[in-house]
Amino acid sequence: MTRLENFISRMTAQRDILDQVCPEVAKMEGLVLELGLGNGRTFHHLRERLPGRRIVAFDRALGAHASSIPEAENLVLGEIRETASRFIGIDAALVHADIGTGYDDRDAVTSTWLPDLIARLLRVGGIAVSGTPLDHPLLQRLPPPPSVPADRYFVCRRV
Ligand code: SAM
Repeated sequence: MTRLENFISRMTAQRDILDQVCPEVAKMEGLVLELGLGNGRTFHHLRERLPGRRIVAFDRALGAHASSIPEAENLVLGEIRETASRFIGIDAALVHADIGTGYDDRDAVTSTWLPDLIARLLRVGGIAVSGTPLDHPLLQRLPPPPSVPADRYFVCRRV
């Protein structure tokens, strides 16, 4: 797969998974947390799919398109491992993490702390969606939509 194909496959997986989980999330109380605002494309998608829901976005620095910048109170800048830890116990309905780098060694480091952080951010029954694996005893893996190849993007429920 070329990097272009890989990128397209990631974008498609993000859209299809977020479209799959948002109707369920809409029926659940709780914040939505966007770990890795980036350009703001998935933030924009979530905002459209979950109108009225508070979405708090995290990143090291603001680099989003002008149309996709959260209100100041919903933007948290800094290292996610540290900043999102302050939200532990918030009982989020959905956590979406798109902080993979494409470098296996760096993503392996992220996998040492991200699953536990997400498990502590979510309410029981809440949904985690991530570009990197979420191996954790409290995160039960769910099947992605048929359009998403195995291990392309990960969906879990907090048990
Ligand atoms: N989903 C976003 C979109 O649709 O535009 C793209 C996210 S981009 C791939 C990943 C973002 O996460 C980058 O902006 C990067 O700065 C941020 N990021 C990655 N790891 C981070 C960390 N440990 N702490 C803070 N920000 C991080």
